[in-house]
Amino acid sequence: MFLSDTVNLVIEDGVGVIRVNNPPVNALSHSVRSGILAGLEQANANPDISAIVIGCDGNTFIAGADIKEFGQMPKTPHLPDVLQAIRNSVKPVTAALHGTVLGGGFELALSCHYRVAMIGTKVGLPEVNLGLIPGASGTQLLPRYVGVEKALSMITSGKMVSTDSLTDLIDMKVDDGRLGQASSPLPEHASLVNQASILFSQSTANDVFVAPDKRDIPDSFEENIFESWRKKLAQKAKGQLAPQRAIDAIEATTKLPFNEALALERTLFLACRDSEQSSAMRYAFFAEKQAASGHAKSTSSDDIQSVAVIGAGTMGAGIAIAFANSGYSVTLVETNEDLCVLGLERIRHQYQKMYDQGRVSEAQKEHALSLISGTSDYGNLANIDLVVEAAFEKMSVKKIIFSSLDAVCKPSTIFATNTSYLDIDEIATSTTRPEQVIGMHFFSPANVMKLVEVVKTRSTSEQAVSAVMKTAKRLGKVPVCVGVGFGFVGNRMYAAYGREANMLLLEGASPEQIDSAMESWGMAMGPLAVNDMSGIDIAYKARREYPPIYDDPAYFLAADTMVEHGRLGRKTGVGFYRYENGKKTNDPTTMALIAIEAERLGIEARRISDEEIQNRLVLALVNEGANLLEKGIARNSEDIDTIWLNGYGFPRFRGGPMYYAKATGINNTIESINYLYRETNKAWWQPSEKLETI
Ligand code: NAD
Repeated sequence: MFLSDTVNLVIEDGVGVIRVNNPPVNALSHSVRSGILAGLEQANANPDISAIVIGCDGNTFIAGADIKEFGQMPKTPHLPDVLQAIRNSVKPVTAALHGTVLGGGFELALSCHYRVAMIGTKVGLPEVNLGLIPGASGTQLLPRYVGVEKALSMITSGKMVSTDSLTDLIDMKVDDGRLGQASSPLPEHASLVNQASILFSQSTANDVFVAPDKRDIPDSFEENIFESWRKKLAQKAKGQLAPQRAIDAIEATTKLPFNEALALERTLFLACRDSEQSSAMRYAFFAEKQAASGHAKSTSSDDIQSVAVIGAGTMGAGIAIAFANSGYSVTLVETNEDLCVLGLERIRHQYQKMYDQGRVSEAQKEHALSLISGTSDYGNLANIDLVVEAAFEKMSVKKIIFSSLDAVCKPSTIFATNTSYLDIDEIATSTTRPEQVIGMHFFSPANVMKLVEVVKTRSTSEQAVSAVMKTAKRLGKVPVCVGVGFGFVGNRMYAAYGREANMLLLEGASPEQIDSAMESWGMAMGPLAVNDMSGIDIAYKARREYPPIYDDPAYFLAADTMVEHGRLGRKTGVGFYRYENGKKTNDPTTMALIAIEAERLGIEARRISDEEIQNRLVLALVNEGANLLEKGIARNSEDIDTIWLNGYGFPRFRGGPMYYAKATGINNTIESINYLYRETNKAWWQPSEKLETI
């Protein structure tokens, strides 16, 4: 019997089975909500039915809200009403779970009287990632099954958890006979778990059952647990409102009658939904989707199977690991056999570290290592589909590598370079296939950082772009397509940000003031601590090797001063800060050295507020971002924001630099940049013409 476009009800041996079929992920669209509600009413009214099962077709149980309905007027029935009807059902309701049961889908499962789950099913409440809290009883019901501590951890992190470890949540587990193997979802899981749920429902139809809201909360938690979580998350989820509100809602359910606490959850949910933070995080979610789209559809013929990585240094090792982790076979190429062995050792060492930290199993470690082999003979690369070059950052080196590759590789091989600054159009001239040459700019550590800038030159074919974008996605990365230009998008903007931090040092702000102002604003790490970590000399050398972007005596003068005094950062034990036994401390010599240079340029030291630091650094990003839009190196603001969220620790709750500029008022932003241009007369503050339309 059809209940709506996406839901039907069938009676099987006295059990009313409500089946959802809303591909691809059975999202909680309006027709799903209304269909389930109608199914409950009919099943409860039908004397032939003694128990109810809610299950899904396809690869997963309900995996959350329907993002197509985001931002629209919500239509009745609302999710809380559907879930209340489930909790109040006079006949017991069993959820048949498989795949990834997320958000509202998990709240629905929690609202049922029983849960049957396929082995390997994952559950989670990812609302905090959108600046929200679960708003349909998730914060109220989850603690009743898994206890307060686990509920706090799951809801405030938004992370998925395997139901295999949640024994009090799942009433029956279903095994597909592949126990112990990586159980990826299979289409037959839907019917397996639905059948098992029907049998389970029959066997429990006459049992006394308890509505989920009447379950007791396990009282095995410390009295000050909520306070300690508030403190912990004030650090870990710095500046974010939603995790704190989630704690409030969970605490309420331990103290108030269910309906009162549930009403409070709804109030907190609505406050989060209407917050600027949630708007920014929802924007970020769509910006990332947008960044991944709009490229030619790739075909199976451009599927990348085999990969070679040239250079087994810092980046090459990380890139090889990223590919092997996703099941690609990787040939690692070095200049001689000894360096090959060293490179492979470096990779083995990294896997051992991941194993020691519990991030991979012994089997995963050995499998990944078995996929990586080393060679110094280009003759072995004839049949490789994709080469990623990560050798020294030198044009002559790259050109020799690319022309050698061109001579041995099959015509369809794509050549990618991981260069940070070099002109890829020029690199491509060393081959006979410039349309197959592309940038694949990973960030360090390459096996951890999500961002990959996919650099399209003036010759790169759309097909090569889509094949590389698709491959990067398979690696679990966030690829963003950009154009050729010094530093592409991310590093070019980072240079503007760093330049402004350097100017502030000359004007009298200390490294710790600049870093702590930016960290309290939400950046993962302050710019000078980052510079010390990556080595101040790297950009110093780059500034000397390429014509400077700005010919100004103050341009990166503070950083240059550090380098010229042998203060290269962590690796020399001193840079902007001093490092003793790995501990960072402030060093008065830093400011003394910088003050000498400031005096030389006639720059007077003054008191600088944290707000000025934050404004200037962010405005520097925005103006440079607009310049990149003007030049066509960045496609749109969403791409820029995606880059900053995934490669530079920009706070998601602020959406990204371009979004932030718009959210705080583009006219204010333009006025501030104009003001800085007038006051400083520095070429870099010349307002981009594109600012008005970012
Ligand atoms: P690295 O010095 O650690 O490693 C370079 C490796 O390439 C060395 O092991 C070297 O032996 C090898 N090599 C040099 N010439 C070669 C050749 N002809 N054939 C094969 N192997 C060769 O350097 P890295 O930091 O890994 O940087 C590599 C590339 O990645 C550079 O282009 C760099 O600009 C870029 N990059 C670096 C970072 C970073 O944070 N380190 C980030 C993004 C991009």
